[in-house]
Amino acid sequence: MEQTKKCPSCGGTMIFQPGFNNLLCQSCGHKETIPELVSKIPVNELDFLTAQNTASHDWGMEAKVVTCKQCGAETIQNKLQLSGLCPFCGSTTVEAADPAQDIMAPNGIIPFKITEKRALYIFKDWIKDRFLAPELLAQDAQLNKFYGIYVPLFTFDVLTVNRFTGHITENSRTLFKCGKFQHQIDDFPVVASKQLASDKLLLNVINDYRTSEAKPYTPDALAGFPCEHYSIGLTEAWNSLGSELNFYMKNQVHKQNETKYLKDVDMATDYFDLKYKYLIVPVWINSFFYDNKLYTIVINGQTGKIDGQWPKSFGTFAKKAAQFFLGSFGLD
Ligand SMILES: [Zn+2]
Ligand SMILES: [Zn+2]
Repeated sequence: MEQTKKCPSCGGTMIFQPGFNNLLCQSCGHKETIPELVSKIPVNELDFLTAQNTASHDWGMEAKVVTCKQCGAETIQNKLQLSGLCPFCGSTTVEAADPAQDIMAPNGIIPFKITEKRALYIFKDWIKDRFLAPELLAQDAQLNKFYGIYVPLFTFDVLTVNRFTGHITENSRTLFKCGKFQHQIDDFPVVASKQLASDKLLLNVINDYRTSEAKPYTPDALAGFPCEHYSIGLTEAWNSLGSELNFYMKNQVHKQNETKYLKDVDMATDYFDLKYKYLIVPVWINSFFYDNKLYTIVINGQTGKIDGQWPKSFGTFAKKAAQFFLGSFGLD
């Protein structure tokens, strides 16, 4: 959404300063603390069943959705802002979407902690250890620009009541077992971005957020940073969790002592008191073309965890193989 905010002392543009909880004037250096980001107030858990009627649609500014014509990503911008660049593919062909589109607002935010400079350093350190990455990649000018963007993340809290059956083998006898237990799930994350969710590699980065450190939503943290509109709705996000939750709950069975060695576990789970948070979380993203193919690198803007795709060059392979060969015969 890239909120625009004017400096009270010189009228310059203020943007959010990653790593600090304040706005910084680009012209005179004036700083202003953002109260929400230093508050101790936790982000509310919201009731899932009544979400349709109770969810906030107030972004704290006039928001519009902008669609990328190349990759389809939707970002939310201030209505007054001129549409710019798509952070997912670098395309400049973006256009305003249907103005009647309803845009549910987040209730929490994890602000950027990692600066762009730090993101670049993390990337350079990472790419030099990538198998067969072309050596020139780390110096490539197009890779020296990471885009900061907030992406949508739903987290779920739910009380589960589980009934299970299975068997244990003891002294070559098979014993049938069944039982019941309760388990409270806290902040189970689902990234609500089809752009990022489609690439399983990036889930490591997304699952690395410390969601307990989220702060109440404030548009000030978006000054200078666009925000992706969720492309996976709240209900769709929850429904997508079925097999993942089943796997998670089966692991819980094995965590209990007397059922640690249970085999062929069958389970039925009932869910109660489903709550959610709609957070926007920071990523540094770089999408680049190499030999006409698009690659994406993503860095968690809170923890610095990095992942992504990279091109593999046969030239690098030949060189590494030669080095290995010479090295192992002491000819280096
Ligand atoms: Zn100023
Ligand atoms: Zn795009």
